[in-house]
Amino acid sequence: MSGTVHVVVVGGGYAGVMAANRVAGSTAGRPPVEVTLVDPGAQFTERIRLHRVAAGSRDSAGVAWPTVLHPRVRRLPDRALRIDADRGSATLQDSGPLGFDRLVYAVGSGEPSTPLLSVTDAAAAARARRAIARLGPGATVTVAGAGPTGVELASVLAVERPELRITVVAPSGLAHPLTGKAAVARRLSRLGVVVERGSVDPATGTVTPRTPGAHPRPPAAATIWTAGFAVPSLAADSGLPVDGGGRLLVDATLAVPGHECILGAGDAVSVTGAAGLHLRASCAIALPMGAHAADNVLARLTGAAPSPIDAGYLAQCLDLGAGRGHVQFVRADDTARPWALSGRPGGWGKEQICRMTVAWLAGEARRSGSYTWPAGPAVPVG
Ligand SMILES: Cc1cc2nc3c(=O)[nH]c(=O)nc-3n(C[C@H](O)[C@H](O)[C@H](O)COP(=O)(O)OP(=O)(O)OC[C@H]3O[C@@H](n4cnc5c(N)ncnc54)[C@H](O)[C@@H]3O)c2cc1C
Repeated sequence: MSGTVHVVVVGGGYAGVMAANRVAGSTAGRPPVEVTLVDPGAQFTERIRLHRVAAGSRDSAGVAWPTVLHPRVRRLPDRALRIDADRGSATLQDSGPLGFDRLVYAVGSGEPSTPLLSVTDAAAAARARRAIARLGPGATVTVAGAGPTGVELASVLAVERPELRITVVAPSGLAHPLTGKAAVARRLSRLGVVVERGSVDPATGTVTPRTPGAHPRPPAAATIWTAGFAVPSLAADSGLPVDGGGRLLVDATLAVPGHECILGAGDAVSVTGAAGLHLRASCAIALPMGAHAADNVLARLTGAAPSPIDAGYLAQCLDLGAGRGHVQFVRADDTARPWALSGRPGGWGKEQICRMTVAWLAGEARRSGSYTWPAGPAVPVG
C-alpha cells in the first residue's frame, strides 16, 4: 500500500471515537493516514447518561465533538447506508460514496423494535422525557426490564418524580446478576418502586403479571422499554457476515474473516471464539474494543501481525439516583468478586467511572505526533 491510507470509522460512539482518535493520534512508523468519522449526531452522546435525561435530572447527554475527537479526525455528519467491502466504498445517505482502505464498523446498538418509549439514544430519551414531563401526580409508569438500564431509570425517576407510581416489570423480577443484589432491592423499595414479575407487550405496553390467575392489565400512562436493544442492520444490508441478531461477526483480531480491511468494535459486533465469550454489549468493553481495532489497523499498516483482543472487566455499576449507586467489582471475565460499594460510596464510584469514559476519549484526542495532515477537503470537527 503506497500513499495516504484512508481509514473510515462508521459510528461515533464510545468504540468509534476511540478507534478514530487512536489511529489519528498514533503516528510512529506508519504511512500517512487520513481518518474520517461518519456519524449523524450533532454532538457525541454519552449514552450511559440517557436514563437521567429521560428522568429529567439532566438536560442533555451531549458532549461537544471537539472535546472528545482528535483534531486530525475529519467528522462527516452523515449516515452509512451500505458498505461494499470488495470495492472499498461506503454509501452515505447525503454525501454518496466514500472510499476507504480500512473501515472500522462501530454503529453501536439502540434500535428497539417497539413503538414504546425508550432511552436507547438521544432522540428516544428526549421523547421519553417529554412524555414523562406531561404526567400528573399519581400517574402510573411501567419500566419494562429489570436490567441495569431499567433499574437506573426507575431509581432516578423515583428521585425526580416521587409522586409517580413506578413499577419495574420483568419475567423474573430482579434476577440480573447486578440488579439482583439485596442493596439494590432495598434502594428501590425505599424509593417506592415496585418490582413485579411479568411481561410487557412490546407493541402495546399491556402488562401480564406472572401470578397464576392474574389478568393482563392495560398499559400504564407511560411505558418505557429497556429490555434489550437491537443493532442497526447496516452489516446485514451490506452482505457482511452477521449473527442471528444482526451483529457483525469478527474474529479475535476484530477483523471480518475474508474482508480483513473491515474491523469492528462495540455493541454492533460479535467476536467469535473464546476471546468473545465474556464480552457483553457495554460501554466498558466498547472503549477497549475501539482501541484494539485501531491498534490492529495500525499494525497492518506497519506490516506487523494483528493481535487477538484480550479485554476484560473491572466493575459493573449502577446509578441509583440522588448520588447513590452500586459498584460491583468483577473479575476480567465479568464474574462477581466479593466486594461492592453501595449507597453514597457506590454513587461516587459510579460517577467516577462515567467521567473516566469521556476523560479517556478526551485524552486520546490530545495524543499527538509529528504527522502533518495532508491537504484536501476537510470537514470541520464540531
Ligand atoms: C441509559 C443507558 C445506560 C447505560 N449504562 C451503561 C453503563 O453503566 N455501563 C456500560 O458499560 N454500558 C452502559 N450502557 C450501554 C452503553 O451505552 C453501550 O454499550 C455503548 O454506548 C456502546 O458503545 P458503541 O460505541 O458500540 O455504540 P454507541 O455508543 O451506540 O454509538 C454508536 C454510534 O453509531 C452511530 N450510528 C449508528 N448507525 C450509523 C450509521 N449507519 N452510520 C453512521 N453512524 C451510525 C450512532 O448514531 C451512534 O452515535 C448504557 C446504555 C444506556 C442506553
